[in-house]
Amino acid sequence: MLSADFGNLQRDIEMLNQSECDWLHVDVMDGIFVPNISFGQPVVKHIKKHARKPLDVHLMIMDPGRYVEDFRAAGADILTVHYEACTHLDRTLHAISDAGMKCGVVLNPHTPVSLLEDTVQLCDVVLLMSVNPGFGGQKFIENTYSKVHQLRQLCDRKNPKCLIEVDGGVNTNNAPLLFEAGADVLVAGNAVFKSDDPQTTIKMLKQ
Ligand code: ZN
Repeated sequence: MLSADFGNLQRDIEMLNQSECDWLHVDVMDGIFVPNISFGQPVVKHIKKHARKPLDVHLMIMDPGRYVEDFRAAGADILTVHYEACTHLDRTLHAISDAGMKCGVVLNPHTPVSLLEDTVQLCDVVLLMSVNPGFGGQKFIENTYSKVHQLRQLCDRKNPKCLIEVDGGVNTNNAPLLFEAGADVLVAGNAVFKSDDPQTTIKMLKQ
């Protein structure tokens, strides 16, 4: 949603409702954990009002455990938090699950997959950042393929049902390679919204 037209949010959500996309990915940024500030719960609530697909809310905020209930109330279906932003990650993941949402951990490009050894079993999804978080429209980091592969092995060993999600610079060129490496969920922003035909681009990404 970060790449949508915020002056025409309802129109863009309707386009997504009619498209083949499965979830709406919502990036919340606090200006501290990441340099940028995006939006908070009030905007998520309005997205929820029009969306007919689950909201995948990605919190790029410090101490996200403080806001679990708020984002549940705003309509999040899936809530992911950064490994780097949580002092008590285990507690925060339990809080998200207990609130009735699917939970997940996000890793920045510099954070190794091996650090999830003791938390992956709690996750419905693990999100790998394929750019440094904070802005839309950045270039994909090639090392992501090998991280997806490593994470696939870790999930196979500890939590085979856990979904692997990739976020940042995803497009129709790298999508097949990410799928091959073991990714289940691809987040696309600019690739969709800057496309001349967003619905066809979504269809191509799904294929
Ligand atoms: Zn995101």
